[in-house]
Amino acid sequence: MSDLAIDRVETVLLDVPLRRAHRFARASMDAQPVLLVRLSTAGGVTGVGEGVVPGGPWWGGESVETMQVLIERYMAPILLGRAVDDIEAIGRDIQDVVANNLYAKTAVEVALHDAWARSLGVPVHTLLGGLARRSIPVTWALGTEPAPVVIEEALGKLEAGAHHTFKLKMGAQDPDADVERVLTIAEKLAGAAGLRVDVNARWDRLTALTQLPRLAEAGIELVEQPVPGPETETLAELTRGLRTAVMADESLRTPTDALRLAKLGAADIYSLKTTKSGGLRASKAIAEIAAAADVPCHAGTSIETGIGTAASLQLACAAPAVTWGSELFGPLLMREDILTTPLRYANGELHLPEGPGLGVELDPAAVRAFTRS
Ligand code: MN
Repeated sequence: MSDLAIDRVETVLLDVPLRRAHRFARASMDAQPVLLVRLSTAGGVTGVGEGVVPGGPWWGGESVETMQVLIERYMAPILLGRAVDDIEAIGRDIQDVVANNLYAKTAVEVALHDAWARSLGVPVHTLLGGLARRSIPVTWALGTEPAPVVIEEALGKLEAGAHHTFKLKMGAQDPDADVERVLTIAEKLAGAAGLRVDVNARWDRLTALTQLPRLAEAGIELVEQPVPGPETETLAELTRGLRTAVMADESLRTPTDALRLAKLGAADIYSLKTTKSGGLRASKAIAEIAAAADVPCHAGTSIETGIGTAASLQLACAAPAVTWGSELFGPLLMREDILTTPLRYANGELHLPEGPGLGVELDPAAVRAFTRS
C-alpha cells in the first residue's frame, strides 16, 4: 500500500458556541454546528476538512447531519484505499454516487488537499498554483437587529481598529422598515466605514427595483444577492440599472453558474466560497472564469471555524481575482478557537499561516469539549 493511501475516514460533529447570536433573515444561531472530516494515510499523515453551513439548511438544503450520513455511508467507501493525490478521479467517482451536496463534498475535498499537502511538506496554496497575496481584508457582518444595537457593535469594532467595512444582513423584516433601519445605520457610520448589505435572496424584482436605489443613494457600496438565486436575468437587470456594485452569492455555486453569470453580465462581483462550491478546485475554477470575465471576487464565509477559514484563506491567497477582500471572520464570532494556534487577525486583515497543509492544527481538547454527545 502506498504511503498516500487512505486507511481511515472519520467524522465528528461539533457545536461551537458563538460570542453572540448571529441573525440571518429567517434563521438565527448561538452555536455553529460543524462536521469535521479526518482522513489518515498509510504514511501516518492526517488531513482535516470542515463541513459547515450558515446556521442550518435554509441556505443550500444541507445540514451537518446530512453531510455526516452522506460522507460515512457513501463517500468513505470510495475514499478508502485511494491515494490522497488522486483528487480529480475521486471527485468524479463521488459524483457518480452523490449528486449535489456540495458542502459535504467540500469537507472531503479539503481534507484530501490537507493530507496531500502535508505528505509533500508544502502548504495547500502550493497545490493551487502559489500565492497572489499573503493576507486579505476582513469585513465584519452585523446581524438583523435594530439600528441602535448594530450601530453600537459597529462603533466598537471601528474603535478597536479590527474592521473598516461592515456587511449588514437584511431581509428579516418588511422591506420599507428594513431599508429605514439601514439608512439610519448608514447615516451614523458615513465616512467612518464602508457599508455593504446582504439581502440573502429575500426580495422579488419589484421590491429590489424600488428599494435598491434608496440604498445606493445612502452610499451603500455593495448589495449582495437581493433576489433569489435562480433569477439571474433579474440580477443582471439590477446590476445594469444600479450605480452600486451588485454581488452574486446564492446565484453562484458551480463553475457553470459562473459562466452563465459572466455571459449575462449578471453581477459586478462574485462571492467565492469553498463551502458552497464543492471545494478548493471548483472555487479556483470559478475564480479563473471571473478573471477571464474581468469580474472581481470576494472571499465569502459560511461561518467556518479556523479549519474551514484556513481553507478559504489558502484559496483566497492563491486566486488573483479575489480583489474585493473577504468576510472570513468565522473564528472571531466563536467563543473559543478549535485550533492550537488561532489564525492571526491584525490591522483589519487575516494573515496566511505558515506551515504545511492548511497551516493550522486542531486542538484535541477543544474538539472533545465541543463534540456533540
Ligand atoms: Mn451571502
